Amino acid sequence: MTLRTATAVIDLHALSNNYRLIQSLSPDAKVLAVLKANGYGHGLERIANALPDADAFGVARLDEALALRSAGIEKPIVLLEGFFAKEDIETLALNNLETIVHNEQQLDAIMNAELTKPLKVWLKIDTGMHRLGINPEQLPYFYRALSQSNNVEKPIVLMSHLASADEKNNAATPKQMALFDELTANFRLEKSLANSAGVLLWPQSHYQWIRPGLLLYGVSPLPSDIKVAGIAPVMTLQSSLISVREITAGEAVGYSGAWISEKNTTIGVVAIGYGDGYPRHAPNGTPVMINGRRVPLIGRVSMDMISVDLGQQSQDQVGDIATLWGKGLAVEEVAAFATTIPYELLCNITRRVHIQLAN
Ligand SMILES: *Cc1c(COP(=O)(O)O)cnc(C)c1O
Repeated sequence: MTLRTATAVIDLHALSNNYRLIQSLSPDAKVLAVLKANGYGHGLERIANALPDADAFGVARLDEALALRSAGIEKPIVLLEGFFAKEDIETLALNNLETIVHNEQQLDAIMNAELTKPLKVWLKIDTGMHRLGINPEQLPYFYRALSQSNNVEKPIVLMSHLASADEKNNAATPKQMALFDELTANFRLEKSLANSAGVLLWPQSHYQWIRPGLLLYGVSPLPSDIKVAGIAPVMTLQSSLISVREITAGEAVGYSGAWISEKNTTIGVVAIGYGDGYPRHAPNGTPVMINGRRVPLIGRVSMDMISVDLGQQSQDQVGDIATLWGKGLAVEEVAAFATTIPYELLCNITRRVHIQLAN
């Protein structure tokens, strides 16, 4: 007996195809492939190595960037929140890492650093998200300071981030695009604005660099009524049935007896739980794929297992494979059941989940 425990099957062909689709949507732009949070849970180095055509990689933490360099990745790497300590600037320069600058502390640190080598800088402007970025009126000052600093490699890149690009009818995006255009019109520099949703819905946001994350992994950032053709999920999360039992109407299943069967039925237990990153808040009815059909999750999600109602006619056996999301069951749909977003489900995959490459 050998049962599969929680396994993320990673399909790198799907990744290549998704990458090509993204390129075809924006043929003139360079691609900064976003790999933060362990490549959205898919494995940082694995994903980087499988994207030979990407023009640059984006990460959120210095450790992620250094892990890529340790793995022999030589492409440009951009720290999407910049550096967090001025002591790190020399590390950036030595490792050829590019940094976003979004505040005065970072600007001061760069200007006052003693560097062996100038840093490549992406200047982030707040065009309406009000999270990171300098205020529009600070642009001339920041631009001049960076341009005059010997610590900065020229030319810099101008960028901003879209807050609501996944909402087709939200006026915030045209407003952000118009402001970014107006602010940057007189700069003959490379510019960057689009995340995955921008790539899909807002061609005007593409400029010279697009920054797709989620879409690379074959997952749509858009509401479910908009179908995104041509992408395929890179991760399929699976585990196996480790128990199958009959229960009668009125019997309770799982912690706190939170689910009580209305009929005689067959209950399956799948070896996956919140200790693997399966969302604890997934409610009764969240779909799980077993032997080609959807069965409902029932009762509480435990640390190491979940229960499903296999139904009265069940032929399923211990050892059969259950798919929690991926091919055949979109993670977007599971996320909607769990009242979260696919981003969170993907990057919550924990260390004990096995990784297997799809053929
Ligand atoms: C995470 C991130 C992205 C990618 O967003 P997706 O919605 O996953 O495409 C792009 N730009 C920045 C600055 C980010 O932090």
